[in-house]
Amino acid sequence: MKKPAQKKPDASTGKARGQKSTMAALRSSEAKYRLLSSQLEAIIDAIPGLVFYKDDRNNFIRVNKYLAEAQKKRKEELEGVSLYDLYPREEAELYYQDDLAVLASGLPRLNIEEPWDTLDGTRWVTTSKIPLIGDDGRRVGIIGISLDITERKQSDRLIQELIQRLEKEKAHAQLNALTDGLTGILNRRYFDETLKKEFSRAKRFGNSLTLIMMDIDNFKNFNDRYGHVSGDDCLRQVATALKIIIGRAPDFVARYGGEEFAVVLPDTDLEGAVIVAERLRKAVMALGIPHDKSDAAAQVTISLGIATVFPETVKSPEGIIELADKALYRAKHNGRNRCEVALEKGASGDSGLRDTSGFVRLVWHSSDASGNSLIDSQHRRLYTLANKTLATKLAGCETSACLSHMAELVAEIELHFKDEEKLLFSARYPAAAEHRKIHAELVLKAKHLMDRLAGDELSVGDLFNFMADDMISRHMQIEDRKFYPYFRQEA
Ligand code: GH3
Ligand code: MG
Ligand code: MG
Repeated sequence: MKKPAQKKPDASTGKARGQKSTMAALRSSEAKYRLLSSQLEAIIDAIPGLVFYKDDRNNFIRVNKYLAEAQKKRKEELEGVSLYDLYPREEAELYYQDDLAVLASGLPRLNIEEPWDTLDGTRWVTTSKIPLIGDDGRRVGIIGISLDITERKQSDRLIQELIQRLEKEKAHAQLNALTDGLTGILNRRYFDETLKKEFSRAKRFGNSLTLIMMDIDNFKNFNDRYGHVSGDDCLRQVATALKIIIGRAPDFVARYGGEEFAVVLPDTDLEGAVIVAERLRKAVMALGIPHDKSDAAAQVTISLGIATVFPETVKSPEGIIELADKALYRAKHNGRNRCEVALEKGASGDSGLRDTSGFVRLVWHSSDASGNSLIDSQHRRLYTLANKTLATKLAGCETSACLSHMAELVAEIELHFKDEEKLLFSARYPAAAEHRKIHAELVLKAKHLMDRLAGDELSVGDLFNFMADDMISRHMQIEDRKFYPYFRQEA
């Protein structure tokens, strides 16, 4: 039996079948592609930032959901749209130049923080741009991802503001720790710490150091008479007056405690210290705060104790406080409203102003010579008598002893002025008459001081000021020098 002939495959059916399977494969790969594409899109849309793919001419090819939302458009609407259509020209140009730079480098540029102007206001983003390079090496476009960091920026700013506020508060607290609550000037703590530092510094450099201790006179009576609130107000006024005079670092004034104040003057000799102390005393008087229960004056006054030391002669900062305190005690004892200088061992002034006993001493220099031997010898004698008077006053000797030196000094001044005037007129010094007038005023002042000395009302500071300032600095060293050339012509 013949096997039934097997049916030959129909070429056309085979072809059809082949087409069918190709179609199926195509459909399946299309489906796969669609699935992949939609998955990719879902992933890109899920990124909480702006994602875009741009060509090399500043046109969007694809954007994600967030970017479209920010532009208030649908994603499809942005495809093929140029940045020049979305942003002002300059801004679009900036973005484009940036893209070109990345494309030119061929390297990704990551995490650049920049402001981003949206339709709802400015936000902050951190942008990374990655160049897309084709197989042939052509740079075809750019992928960008901008993550919104506005919230982080805001919290960064808040943290910065907080840090700044804390730093301000810290500085304020530090200042508070060093200032006195009532008067606003530096406090005892600052005084203690800084005196210690200045003491070591003076020791290291071999400089002098001055401390002036001050105490309001009869302040207990003031409180009793005018009340504690007025007492506080008085303390504030006194502190302010002192601070106006002691304005420049490294000098400072501090509230030492209660109604006591302290001034530290680094690298200051006794001459300078006495002048400053007198200024302080006068400034407090000048406040004119009435005090009718004071032994010293009709207004509030202070007593001052001055100690100028070279730290090699005083062992510790406490040593200088002790010296100034003793001088202050003497100022109180001698009638208040006055300055007294520490005389004990260790206290001294600048070498130009002291002798071995530690007293303030005015020294005549050859540069003071006028060229006329009579004038020069008289000037020298005035220095000697002035030193004697100062020394007895500083030593706290009996008023009578001081007074007799002062009387001798005044008599010598009068004699010298007469001789000098005669010489000035005979040398035809044009300002001779004017000079005689100045002499007359000085004699008047000297006699007035002598009266105050007799009444025990003259402070060492006033006496010192007259001799060092009125007689020497202003008269002999300025006024007298004007006529020196006339003597030299004569000679
Ligand atoms: P002296 O001239 O000898 O210094 O006499 P005094 O009365 O000033 O001296 P005393 O030490 O006896 O009195 C100091 C007074 O200063 C007593 C105290 O009530 C007052 N005082 C101290 N601190 C303050 C303050 O902060 N405010 C006020 N209102 N008074 C103060
Ligand atoms: Mg006191
Ligand atoms: Mg007092």
